[in-house]
Amino acid sequence: MFKYQGSFVIDYTLTNLTGLRIGGAKEEFDIGGVDNPVIKAPVSIPEFYDDGSELPQGAPYIPGSSIKGKVRSLLEWALGRVEEMYEKNSADIEKAGKPCDCGKCSICIIFGTGDAKTVERLAKEEKNPPGPPRAKFFDAYPTKETLERLSEQLGEGIFTEIKTENQINRITSRANPRKVERVPAGAEFKGRIVFDLFKEEDKKLLKVIFKGLEMLENNFLGGYGSRGSGRVKFKELVIEFIPREYYTGEGQKKEIGKFNSVQDVINSLEEIIRNV
Ligand SMILES: [Zn+2]
Repeated sequence: MFKYQGSFVIDYTLTNLTGLRIGGAKEEFDIGGVDNPVIKAPVSIPEFYDDGSELPQGAPYIPGSSIKGKVRSLLEWALGRVEEMYEKNSADIEKAGKPCDCGKCSICIIFGTGDAKTVERLAKEEKNPPGPPRAKFFDAYPTKETLERLSEQLGEGIFTEIKTENQINRITSRANPRKVERVPAGAEFKGRIVFDLFKEEDKKLLKVIFKGLEMLENNFLGGYGSRGSGRVKFKELVIEFIPREYYTGEGQKKEIGKFNSVQDVINSLEEIIRNV
């Protein structure tokens, strides 16, 4: 069965190399604002940065759910889970396009399966439930330097750009412009992924996660990716392993290392796994 062995804590900096557009709720924007606002911190967060300063209200951020959802979706394509869901549910296209719910594949083990009935069946009949989702993707917030730079160049308390996109009518050539809010290219966000080990073989799932991050770098995060938005890159990855024994007072945290890129982590993965 399952025995908690410890957690990998993966801290990273994410840079958007092109404008980043993760949509927020329409109710949040004020009258006269843009039609397509990006998601922003609804309230300030006191003592957020190391120097004790706050994260200002209105600072754009990247929800962990956006990163998790995109990485999962890319991995499902790569590992053939989309085809399988389609074959299983081809009569119901709505269901066919949902996340894999087999409860057995590496994706379901890492990211979880929302299908309680499947989990129950696997636990009762096959005595092989997927267990708790191994990975947690936390929200990523902009660095203080990024917010200061944006505010300095765009205006006090302004952290986003308004980009106008045009659709041209093929017959009349009339332009149909719309305004899109984005985080300008070059912003830096700090985020964290925590990956729990419940079985010895969970260690090999780490590679799946980093391959997913690599796929994300060659895809896009947020919206309007086919029109140029959302190209991102991970850097300054710092990995630590906290063994179960640390929490029982019998062990120490283990610094795994600092890496410049996702590729660097993947190249060192075998060694990383050997050392924990
Ligand atoms: Zn699955």
